[in-house]
Formats: sequence, structure tokens, C-alpha cells
Amino acid sequence: MAFKILVVDDEQDVELLFKQRFRKSIREGDINIDFAFSGEEALAFLHEPGSTDIALILSDINMPGMTGFELLEKVKSEYPDLKVMMISAYGDDEHTQKAMRLGADELLAKPIDFKKLEEKLLGYR
Ligand SMILES: [Mg+2]
Repeated sequence: MAFKILVVDDEQDVELLFKQRFRKSIREGDINIDFAFSGEEALAFLHEPGSTDIALILSDINMPGMTGFELLEKVKSEYPDLKVMMISAYGDDEHTQKAMRLGADELLAKPIDFKKLEEKLLGYR
């Protein structure tokens, strides 16, 4: 069964980037990626029936409206078992510590190192 991921980022280009980088895995049915362009959209998506099989959320931190940290808090309180990786352009201690304190499973730096991300995804499967 495909490993289902929800990517949340206010930059629309991210969708194309992920689709290109994971083209083979998507085509082979190893990975299924859905996209949301805000925290609000991500939560609405998770609340839809049929979204319960999402195994991992990858979320940007800096987004207009609901921030990635706010989304993380809500997701972890509603779906404690759902893994959440945060993506930040600022890999500083403050961001890392806050992400971990709010229950993030991982913090990735932007721009995303896709090689590293793929290795991490294997660990979550
Ligand atoms: Mg952003």
C-alpha cells in the first residue's frame, strides 16, 4: 500500500517540485502525496472522511494565516499518532526547540535535501 503524505506549504511551486522528485515512487504506487497550501486547508483535508490513512505530514513553518507551529499543535492534539515533519528556512536552535517542544517528529531545513528526505521517509514506513 502507498505511504500517504500530506505536504503543506504556502508556496505553490512545492507541489511541482515534490511531484518531480518523487515521480518514480508515485508512479510505482510506493508513495501518495497530497498537497495543502495553508494550515487551514491542511486541517480541512484531514477532517475529510478518507484522509485517515495519511501517515505523515510535512509542513512549512512560515505561512500566512495559521503557521506551521499552530498546525503542528492542532494536528498533535487531534491525531497524536500522526507523524509531523516541519520544514524551516531557519535551522536555528529556537525553531528546532519549539518544533520539538510542540511534538514535531523531525525538523528539515529549506531548501529541502530530497536525498536526505527520501532516507528519512524509508525510516517512517
Ligand atoms: Mg512559507
